[in-house]
Amino acid sequence: MTAPEEQQNVTPETSTRPNETIQKVTSVKPAAKPRAAAKPAATKATVTKPAVKADVTPVMPSEVLEVAVIGSGFSGLGMGIRLKKAGMTNFRVFEKAGDVGGTWRDNVYPGCACDVKSQLYSYSFEPSAEWSNAYANQGEILKYIRFCATKYGMYPFMRFNSKVVSATFNAEQGEWLLTIEGGELVRAKNIVAAPGPFADPKDPHIKGSADFKGTIIHTARWDNNVELKGKRVALIGTGATAVQVGPAIAPEVGHLTVFQRTANWIMPRPNPNLSDAEKQESRDNPLKMKINRLKNYWLNEATAPFLILKYDAFKSVPSSISTSYRQKKVKDPVLLKKLTPNYKFGCKRVLVSSDWYPTIQRENVTLEVSGIKQITPTGIETIDGNYYELDVIIFATGYEVRNTGAPFKVYGLNNASLDDKWKDGAEAFDGIATNNFPNLYFLVGPFTGPGHTSVIAYAEAQIDYVWQAIELRKQMNLKYITVKPKAEAGFVKTMDQRSEHTVWKSGCASWYLSPNGRNNVLYPGFNAEYRMRIMRFNPANYLLMGADNAPVKASLRDHLSTVKMAFTA
Ligand code: NAP
Repeated sequence: MTAPEEQQNVTPETSTRPNETIQKVTSVKPAAKPRAAAKPAATKATVTKPAVKADVTPVMPSEVLEVAVIGSGFSGLGMGIRLKKAGMTNFRVFEKAGDVGGTWRDNVYPGCACDVKSQLYSYSFEPSAEWSNAYANQGEILKYIRFCATKYGMYPFMRFNSKVVSATFNAEQGEWLLTIEGGELVRAKNIVAAPGPFADPKDPHIKGSADFKGTIIHTARWDNNVELKGKRVALIGTGATAVQVGPAIAPEVGHLTVFQRTANWIMPRPNPNLSDAEKQESRDNPLKMKINRLKNYWLNEATAPFLILKYDAFKSVPSSISTSYRQKKVKDPVLLKKLTPNYKFGCKRVLVSSDWYPTIQRENVTLEVSGIKQITPTGIETIDGNYYELDVIIFATGYEVRNTGAPFKVYGLNNASLDDKWKDGAEAFDGIATNNFPNLYFLVGPFTGPGHTSVIAYAEAQIDYVWQAIELRKQMNLKYITVKPKAEAGFVKTMDQRSEHTVWKSGCASWYLSPNGRNNVLYPGFNAEYRMRIMRFNPANYLLMGADNAPVKASLRDHLSTVKMAFTA
């Protein structure tokens, strides 16, 4: 493989099935350079751009990447950094947009910030002393991600504006063939998929929205050109996003009507500025930063049973903290009742906000709890017969989280479709690998979302695990590695059994649950326990296919090699 700077790129010709291809490598493209963030879609409600199809014939590249990473949010970028640190250069990170950052690149709505402390919501290997506040805002987080991409020399490995639309496994060659939107083909021994759960906005499909004469905008595709000053604005949704955007826009709009379907549990979030002196102290004392991170990590771990388990013994303390905070902040009994959740603490994501209740009580804000009947050309009509004239409607209605189906078309051994396998719910061993789809690894995949702590704590552990798998395949000269069905079924059974004890299945609706009511999104346990579980890539859980198409057994030396990798990661 050539160095990234002189990387050859194939010129696509038409888009046919990836298997029907011809061998030829054509033009040489310069190395990918960072570009400005993709402009968010404008005004009228969020529609995904149709795939652009080039009128060209695909050609098979002669070179094979060791790894194709898909996505350049925290996880995908972290994977790239890990591979490069290990001395690998034969990999690329495929990114559908024109910049790194994932959800932090795409979500630019006012007030967008992280509700996990930045000391923990950052790479463990790159602590930052520069955060302005304990909880950083979107702009700072994106800046941090770009900083890491630059510092760790990732840009030459990036393939921007390259959306992977399908991947097909060739068992004979032990490699994947990826199709990039437009038709380009890429060969890779391994795929690490890090598409993130929050890539696509969720349209609430409210009757009449197509006829609205004003502007409809989704928070996940914010457009700063939409004028809000003095306007009559509706905010639909009261989840983690809404409680950020509402307080940020309420002071400038003419009137804000918040349409709440379900009241949420809210905890206060004091977010003091970090002074220059505090930042300097962190710069001067990196050890102290590490200790602070660890402190935050273990504090979050201590909250896990209270946020995860369904049992009343774990609910009374946090529910009463949240309840007394609400009662202290909201004096009007009618409003208080409207803001009181009717499900168990932690069933939906617990929100952290110190400015949501003050915002709801502003003179120019109305909380509407009657369901929406329809959007009319000039406003919103509720089921109770209330009518609101509006200029702008904001959908803070969340994301199309894929807990069923594959993130792109994936065809594994014997052309098995991952969409078919995951049609009732995504499943993977350790949340990372799924049988019949060899050399394919997911980051923050099924069952491994964070219920109580930073997602990066999960992603980093998975990155080390995947790196071990990739290294072992190379060391043992294997054609492919695929998880054994028994190992996968055992892990899934454990997750299902443990999920029965969680509050997520206690009767509320949330994006954690698949249509059949099963949790396959969040990890039902401590992060520390998950990290221990996946610290070492254990080849005994995998079928190892040798170069001569015969299964191979890992020797003691191979096992010891993974132990060494686990402890030197
Ligand atoms: P969400 O939690 O799915 O909330 C969507 C909101 O829209 C809910 O209040 C929902 O009501 C409402 N809604 C949906 N369809 C509706 C309809 N047809 N009519 C009326 N209301 C409707 O989405 P989100 O707030 O964007 O948050 C999603 C996830 O993103 C969070 O759980 C979190 O993991 C992540 N996030 C994180 C941060 C952070 O600070 N780290 C910030 C924002 C988001 P119901 O509750 O009744 O369904």
